[in-house]
Amino acid sequence: QDDPRLKAISEAIRVVPHFPKPGIMFHDITTLLLDHVAFKDAVDIFVDRYRDMGISVVAGVEARGFMFGPSIALAIGAKFVPLRKPRKLPGEVISEAYVLEYGKDCLEMHVGAVHPGERVLVIDDLVATGGTLSAAIRLLERVGAQVVECACVVGLREYLYVLQGQHGLNEKPLYILVEPR
Ligand code: AMP
Repeated sequence: QDDPRLKAISEAIRVVPHFPKPGIMFHDITTLLLDHVAFKDAVDIFVDRYRDMGISVVAGVEARGFMFGPSIALAIGAKFVPLRKPRKLPGEVISEAYVLEYGKDCLEMHVGAVHPGERVLVIDDLVATGGTLSAAIRLLERVGAQVVECACVVGLREYLYVLQGQHGLNEKPLYILVEPR
């Protein structure tokens, strides 16, 4: 990871201690979006990686996966599919529940948005335990899609060893741009 663009991307992400609750180091990618050069560099790095991988779907996780996914999808010639929190999508949905540090949550996808056999990139801003990405993978595999890789801007170091290991993230590769400073 000696791409000089990565340092500026990392430095553009604000870290807010104890948000939204004590003990959490919140990585705020909205400050990356304010820096149009670093924001474009981040999108470009993803686009260069995925443009020739036969990907027809970029699936973004609500809400911050929506801030990167559509730009990548347009640039690589794929469709964008939002994976949303419960009761946001108006059409028929399939749902996948997952466990958070405190409590449970759920991701939903419109039935018919992704077809069997389609090759999918899953994108979110940050991966911690991998619970959210795992739910996204299960959702897509239930409709017969093939998850090629999961990608995040930030990967929290303490979980990466396990997630990027052989059996991490339902056996799917995980690509991250930066680890926390
Ligand atoms: P996880 O399911 O544990 O991998 O958590 C990843 C999801 O929670 C992503 O959608 C992130 O946006 C959010 N998240 C978890 N931890 C943080 C953090 N320290 N800073 C910012 N977002 C976080």
